Amino acid sequence: MNNSTSFIPFYDFSPTVNAAYLKEILPLLVRHNVAANPINYAIWYDYVVGNNVTLTNAVNSIVTEQGVFDCETSVELYKKYICNASLESFEHINRQIHKVIEQATTAINDTYHKAEETNDSFQKKTVMLESLPETGGLKTILREIIQETQSLAVTSQAMQGKLTAANKEMEQLRKELAQVRQIATTDGLTGLLNRRAFDMTLAEIVEQSEPDKTCLSMLDIDHFKRINDTYGHTIGDNVIKYVASLMKKYAEGHHHVARYGGEELAIIMPNTSHEKALEISENIRSSMEASRLQRKNDNQSLGSITLSIGIAKLQPGDDPESFIVRADTALYKAKQSGRNKVVHYDQLDRR
Ligand code: GH3
Ligand code: MG
Ligand code: MG
Repeated sequence: MNNSTSFIPFYDFSPTVNAAYLKEILPLLVRHNVAANPINYAIWYDYVVGNNVTLTNAVNSIVTEQGVFDCETSVELYKKYICNASLESFEHINRQIHKVIEQATTAINDTYHKAEETNDSFQKKTVMLESLPETGGLKTILREIIQETQSLAVTSQAMQGKLTAANKEMEQLRKELAQVRQIATTDGLTGLLNRRAFDMTLAEIVEQSEPDKTCLSMLDIDHFKRINDTYGHTIGDNVIKYVASLMKKYAEGHHHVARYGGEELAIIMPNTSHEKALEISENIRSSMEASRLQRKNDNQSLGSITLSIGIAKLQPGDDPESFIVRADTALYKAKQSGRNKVVHYDQLDRR
């Protein structure tokens, strides 16, 4: 796979090389009054590395025209010259697949025509053989048949070679597409489905599933802001990862575990009774309550961290939104009634 076909931008992973880039990037960020956030860093990283020529030119012309690298300009540069590279790789894969299919089709057609020609020639020779009086002519015709058979074998071998090459290339493209799909549907922090994949999966399941046999569990970490404020964002992130691991542990193989957003996570549970959904959610909640998470560097306890969970069952006439609203209402009730609880929407008193 060359750099231009890779969906993930190709970066050097050497700490020494990147330390040198860093030393060049930081003064540039300061000189141009640019915030060192990931979008800007990606832009100026590419600028310093110098491989992304169109981006370098765009940045240079902004510098020459004494333009400012405000939020809009940065996002525009990022979308146009960094994300676009990813779009290009999608298109590249698409074009390659068409090319491989075309080549394989041509190889098959060539062989088919050759076989047809040989067949015609054999038929003519059969007629000639039948009308031949002596063996001299027979030898000539047999020689010709052998030659034509050999030539057909050569064509078949060539086709086999082309098909093997096409197959190899298709396998490579299949891997690239699987990688692209994986990146596009996975949440980077937890490895769960991301919000986009959650929306798509839920829409599909709501459309295909029988009501009463599908449940949705929405989960929110209690007082998470406090965890961030007390221990910092990185530990906050690790807590989200830990909750995600508990969800993966207790959810069943056919369930879809997703990060709905921030510290809110969800499990779509097709073919699952509400009793089972309650049991799984309760397992996650009680495991979290019993966990004694510690800070890695000094083993300081993070104290008790709890979860609130709301569950809803799919009903006739539901769309994804109405389904989510009911699970969310149950989650809200769990928070309102003291947190660290699992609440099923059907158990709510809605008078
Ligand atoms: P409650 O019990 O009512 O849910 O209280 P809470 O503090 O958890 O609720 P709130 O929704 O007000 O706070 C959620 C916080 O989660 C706010 C936001 O800064 C933080 N957060 C969102 N996404 C992330 C993330 O990816 N990592 C970290 N560390 N924090 C995040
Ligand atoms: Mg929240
Ligand atoms: Mg919360």
